[in-house]
Amino acid sequence: MTEPRPDCAVAHYHEIALKGGNRPMFIRRLTDNLRKAVQGLGKIRILSPRGRILLYLNEETPWPILSERLSGIFGIANFSAAYRCPTEPEAIEALVNRLLDSKTFKTFRISARRGDKAYPLTSMELNIRLGRHVQEKTRARVDLEQPELTIHVEILQREALVYFEKLGGPGGLPVGVSGHVLSLISGGIDSPVASYLMMKRGCTIGFLHFHGYPHLTKASLEKAEELVQHLTRHQFESRLYAVAFGEVQRLIVLNVPPPLRVVLYRRFMLRIAEEIAHRERAKAIITGENLGQVASQTLDNLTVIQEAARLPILRPLIGFDKDEIIETAKAIGTYPVSIQPDQDCCRLFIPPHPSVAAQLNDIEKAERNLDVSGLVKMGLETVERMAFTFP
Ligand code: ATP
Ligand code: MG
Repeated sequence: MTEPRPDCAVAHYHEIALKGGNRPMFIRRLTDNLRKAVQGLGKIRILSPRGRILLYLNEETPWPILSERLSGIFGIANFSAAYRCPTEPEAIEALVNRLLDSKTFKTFRISARRGDKAYPLTSMELNIRLGRHVQEKTRARVDLEQPELTIHVEILQREALVYFEKLGGPGGLPVGVSGHVLSLISGGIDSPVASYLMMKRGCTIGFLHFHGYPHLTKASLEKAEELVQHLTRHQFESRLYAVAFGEVQRLIVLNVPPPLRVVLYRRFMLRIAEEIAHRERAKAIITGENLGQVASQTLDNLTVIQEAARLPILRPLIGFDKDEIIETAKAIGTYPVSIQPDQDCCRLFIPPHPSVAAQLNDIEKAERNLDVSGLVKMGLETVERMAFTFP
């Protein structure tokens, strides 16, 4: 027998993350985000009765697509396909009967929760009553430790919900509760993971990519576009700024001794990023930098690079191992795109022995040979803006 079509999806969030005075705002944001996520899946009503979110489905809602979308919504700890019925125990038993027709199992348990504390039975009494009922109907055995099937029952004010499997949500905070930031996205493995982690902490993200045009092709930009499109499933709309950096790099090369160049490229990237961050009203800049990974990412160099910007630079991957980053990239689906070959501007004009301990004096001296604001302007003149949406 095939399973009946679910009436609704029930989603739970992490209570602890949402405590305090911000709670109503967080829940409003989560429901707004869900409303965007279910676009195109027919009319779906979204409610948030005490501690949970309900999405009432319609005849056309395809559960596999809805489930896939819900699995990307930050703030959701878990969710399930659920069935609704009146709150009377008899009605719950009748629904359970109908649902169990399509299931075979030898052991089970009932996990009842009351959202409505005025309900005449306690959760324990309901567990016992429904447990007996299921035992009589199916001859299955109760196993509280490792049941094959858990039958969840939630009593709300006007209805009861019955559901089985809890599917994992991504956790985190609803996108939008933590403000807007600008992420430097390279097309490599790290920066998409850094962006994901900041979204997971509730940020909305604008993206900025530097490509090596006109001295390289724009292949790296195509990867950045693909990565941004992929990440947009968590925030529903994104803007990507693309800046041609090849000519800025060439002018740095002409005027700066080789060991300092890499740090200078980064300082110019940040200066350009800061201008774009102001246009975007972004409160911080995000990078995929990671301590000690490459020459540009020693503590000395990170410090000197940071000096070029006034906005805070956030580096969510600073203490990760490369293996951990790769694992996350695979889990969030960015890895296959990131490892495609491209023409990364960071590899353009790279000196054989970049300095690992640049000193601010030396850097500032080198920059006196450059028209700093002119180079920033030159980069900004090439900016292209692209928009992405999901679904
Ligand atoms: P990634 O895997 O993100 O490319 P990485 O390990 O290659 O990082 P770097 O090349 O030193 O390290 O870059 C450090 C960070 O600087 C990147 O994570 C990214 O945030 C930013 N960055 C580097 N290159 C670019 C670029 N072409 N466009 C935008 N941001 C960049
Ligand atoms: Mg890189």
